[in-house]
This record gives sequence, C-alpha cells and structure tokens, in this order.
Amino acid sequence: SAHPEVAPFDGTGRTADGRRVELLANVSGGDAAAATRAEGVGLFRTEFVFLDRHEAPSIADQTAAYREVFAAFRGRRVVVRTLDAGSDKPLAFLAGPREQNPALGVRGYRTARAHREVLDTQLAAIAAAAQAEQTDAWVMAPMVATAAEAREFAAACRPHGFAAVGVMIETPSAALCAAELVREVDFVSLGTNDLAQYAMAADRQLAPLAELTDAWQPAVLRLIRLVGEAGAAAGKPVGLCGEAAGDPALAPVLVGLGVTSLSMAPRALDEVAAALRAVSFEQCVAAGAAAAAAPGPREARAAAAPVFSR
Ligand code: PEP
Ligand code: MG
Repeated sequence: SAHPEVAPFDGTGRTADGRRVELLANVSGGDAAAATRAEGVGLFRTEFVFLDRHEAPSIADQTAAYREVFAAFRGRRVVVRTLDAGSDKPLAFLAGPREQNPALGVRGYRTARAHREVLDTQLAAIAAAAQAEQTDAWVMAPMVATAAEAREFAAACRPHGFAAVGVMIETPSAALCAAELVREVDFVSLGTNDLAQYAMAADRQLAPLAELTDAWQPAVLRLIRLVGEAGAAAGKPVGLCGEAAGDPALAPVLVGLGVTSLSMAPRALDEVAAALRAVSFEQCVAAGAAAAAAPGPREARAAAAPVFSR
C-alpha cells in the first residue's frame, strides 16, 4: 500500500459495525495469482483469450485459460464476464461492418446475440473449467440494455448449471429498469466505467472529459442508488466492479447506496478495507444520501467527508 499506516486487508471486508461487504479482485488472466488476497474475483475479464485471433479460440484452449485463473481461487467465488468485444475492446474475428459510433454499436452482449455459437462455446468452457477446479463460478454478461436481454442470457446459461447467473449494469437503461432486470437473474454488477460514460454522454477514454465521467457525478450516484434499491428489494447481490470500487473515499458512499460487494485492482484492497472498517453502515447510508443530493462531483466529495468525521 502507498500508505504504510494502513493495515493490510485481513481477508474479510466489513464496516465498523460488522456489515459484510465482500472485497473482490478484478483479474484478466495472468494477474490472478497476485490477486489471491482478495475474497474472490468480482470481475474476470475474458477478452485476453480472444485477442489477436482470426477465429474463435477452441473450447479446449478456453478451458485451459480459465482453469489457470480458477486454480488460484479454488473453492472461492470467481465472477466470470462473458466476452465484452467491440468499441474500446475491438476483436478481429468478430468485426462486423464499420460503425460510425462503436461505443453505441454491436458490442458486449450484442456480439453474443449476433454470434450465438461464440457465447455457447465460452459458457461450456467456463463450466468445464469450474468443474475441474472446483470453483464457485458465477457468470455475467456485459453491456446489457434491457430485461429481455437479461432473460435471454439467463436462458443461454441454464443448461450449464452455474452457481449464479447475472448481468452487468453499465447502461442507463439497465439502471433505470433495474427492478425488472434483477427479476431475471441471481445478481447484478455495476460497471461504472461504462455507466458513467453513457449517463454523461462522455467518452471514458477522453482525458479532457474526465470530470464528466467521474463516478462522483450525482447522476451516476443516483443511477447506482436505483440499482441498490432494486437489489435490496429483491434480496439479490449488487456488485460494483468499475474503477470507482477502488476509491477509498467513495467505497463507503457506494455501500450506503446499496452496493453489497466491491471488486477492484488488488493494490486498492488495503485502503478500501480500512475505509470501510472506520465507519458504520448508518454513516455509509448518510454519506450516500448526502453525496447523491449534491449538485456536482466536487460537492459530492465534500458532502460525504464530514459524515465520516462525526
Ligand atoms: C466497467 O465498464 O465499469 C467495467 C467494469 O468493465 P470494462 O471497464 O471492462 O468496460
Ligand atoms: Mg464495461
């Protein structure tokens, strides 16, 4: 950790009054072995298996790649995201006709709809790898925009018998219709990098727009709250696996808005765990309400801070 005074994460995320918040790692292949201090994996990005290929990897190739990650987390939870191709993650073998607006194009789960065999092969490989390594594999689809897509994905997963099936919430439509979406799946996970991009109509890759794509933007916080409320009403987990999860000042706010697990780069675990340990769940709720009611991101940070020094 950058701050030597921060105690190392002890393996169990919780608030001062004992409210559990699972602290998970984001991994994308070879980095899994370095992430095992986390409680599990909250986002396993599988794109690496598909990069630099002109046809889809075989089921055997995929199973071997997934087993490497699962082996590092045997007996623990690994949330696997199905292929998130397109836009900022272009793939040669799935490239369709040129698009004017790739961020709004055939990407994420939309490529799986267009290439159903790619999805089915990937799901079979994930199931085989999970069985071989005795991993608690949860599966989720990226860039889902409607409850109908969530239902369709859940149906595609059903034959494989995964422990849980979910979808990412990274479009404003999915957040606004969260109550309907959560009915179709076992859990949801907020992808705040994309959710902020689409909520603010600001490219996540453009540095000059970074203030707009800040997860502290009240519009983003209010969308997160809608999802937190829908998850709580349905009694289903609401994860968050965007960059926002690794911000120790924001983590208690997110928990107060209804997020039940945070998945981050492993280097952020110590500071996020310490930030949660220092506050009660009631303080998280107060900070979440104050930040979401603020007029802008700077004011949201300022509104949340005093709640924790009370
Ligand atoms: C996100 O969009 O927040 C996310 C976690 O997925 P990615 O950054 O891979 O798009
Ligand atoms: Mg995303």
